Amino acid sequence: MGETVGGTVIVTGGASGIGYETAEVLKERGWSVYLFDLKREALETACAGLGLEMERGLVCDISDEAAVEDAVATVWARERVGAVVNCAGIGADKAAVETSVAEFRRVLDINLIGSFAVSRAVASRWLEAGMVGAIVNISSVSGMTGNKGRVAYGSSKGGVNLMTLVMANELGRSGIRVNAVAPGPIDTPLARSVHTDDVRRQWAERVPLSRYGTPREVAMAVAFLLSNDASYVNGHILTVDGGFVSAGLAS
Ligand code: NAD
Repeated sequence: MGETVGGTVIVTGGASGIGYETAEVLKERGWSVYLFDLKREALETACAGLGLEMERGLVCDISDEAAVEDAVATVWARERVGAVVNCAGIGADKAAVETSVAEFRRVLDINLIGSFAVSRAVASRWLEAGMVGAIVNISSVSGMTGNKGRVAYGSSKGGVNLMTLVMANELGRSGIRVNAVAPGPIDTPLARSVHTDDVRRQWAERVPLSRYGTPREVAMAVAFLLSNDASYVNGHILTVDGGFVSAGLAS
């Protein structure tokens, strides 16, 4: 176990929302950042906004195992990766009986299995090279509570939380830390696409801090978990939700 955490980080879903903001915060803190996302154009815009060279934005659909292996191999050939932030994901807000099996499978494929594929590709390299590293998975409060409309999305995020615990247990033995950040409602393009005005009102009522969080508030928690300040934090699911999950009766 030679090298310490730090250096190079892969942020999936880095072209938008929480992933973009996380990339920005990590860059400010001296990390060498690579983005994985679906579209070349969005990656170019993100790289330009972040002041990153274009080759740091890699087109990679995380639900495609071969594409993940290619993208991880490309980064690894340039720099030894020290950390992964699994932020790529899709949302869904649909009643259980209206959710088709195909839709459910697609959400699991991206949010859960895609995150697993990226972590597995990097962690296996860490083990082979005798390196340590850190992984942060972005799950959701919908993976911890029975929010309506989240049969597929919530299941995928509950799976991400459990995957985090198992990998923290297994990889911790080799000095690799695996944690998750579970955001509440965060103002991003994804939230804007699935949250109606009525949903926004409900969140504001139910969240003790009475507002949506910002992508930066999530990014700061991710940066902490990747940093050496969190060197003894492993297998933790950190809610960044204004108190939503922990709240009881209000008035
Ligand atoms: P966003 O839509 O702004 O960003 C998600 C990014 O992931 C996009 O750039 C998208 O292109 C990318 N992506 C989607 N599918 C992909 C795939 N198959 N391969 C590679 N990239 C892919 O969304 P966001 O709100 O920033 O969400 C980021 C993460 O945070 C997601 O995992 C989401 O579930 C989670 N989250 C968001 C909220 C919220 O309220 N916004 C709350 C809890 C959890």
